[in-house]
Amino acid sequence: MTPFVSVLMLLLAVSRAQVTPVPDGGEEQASGSGEGPEETQTEDISVGILTSNKKSPKFLFEGDIQAPKTRNAMRCWYNSCLWRKGTDGKVSIAYKVSHQFTPEEVQAISNALKDIESKTCIRFVPRQNEYDYISVENKAGCYSYLGKTGGRQELSLQRYGCLYKGIIQHEFLHSLGFKHEQTRSDRDKYVRINWANMDQSMAYNFHKADTNNLNTPYDYSSIMHYGRTAFSRYGWETITPLSSANIGQRRHASYWDIRRINLLYRC
Ligand SMILES: [Zn+2]
Repeated sequence: MTPFVSVLMLLLAVSRAQVTPVPDGGEEQASGSGEGPEETQTEDISVGILTSNKKSPKFLFEGDIQAPKTRNAMRCWYNSCLWRKGTDGKVSIAYKVSHQFTPEEVQAISNALKDIESKTCIRFVPRQNEYDYISVENKAGCYSYLGKTGGRQELSLQRYGCLYKGIIQHEFLHSLGFKHEQTRSDRDKYVRINWANMDQSMAYNFHKADTNNLNTPYDYSSIMHYGRTAFSRYGWETITPLSSANIGQRRHASYWDIRRINLLYRC
């Protein structure tokens, strides 16, 4: 591991208080309408993302977070780089979708974002000439930068594998500054990480982060929570909830995912 990578991993952090965990399910109040047939599949979110990312040439933290391009952007890794709120109280985030996507695919992306917009003060607006914007690309895999990096920032949603509402929302939540639920500093009270069941070269993906959990409970139902076999060896379980909760849902942002957006951005 290079010193640069070590430093980055140290910086993978923002602090969290802890409260009562949220079980899976029962979060339908956060769900949007118009769930397509793809929302009923049972594959978990980390299987979807990590399988898609196997062929990615990028170095991705925790499977789908791009390392910052500049040292300046590294501060985002421990002090989340937020998008700015306008005088209208809305946080407008410019984005541009690659011409490689079909109108139906563009619609799927737009629908997933509308679901977030309808419950928060975030507004995803088609880019005109904004300097900072998210460029949605059909690259190899599903991945994003963490928070606003400044300038053009790539967010990949590979056509085959990433265009599910939950995965789209997951990657956009990274771009809003959110990390993975299973790397929260208090996660050991809620899940057991089975280190022996993963290739040791993958262990860094489970290092705890000093994340800003905004006084919200550990949320097994978060769209940012990986499933039981993330980075597994031979399909063995790497993340075991310390309760009967299900993890790794990829249907839509949970109630607490939405609450956290509203708290972080003071909507
Ligand atoms: Zn992720």
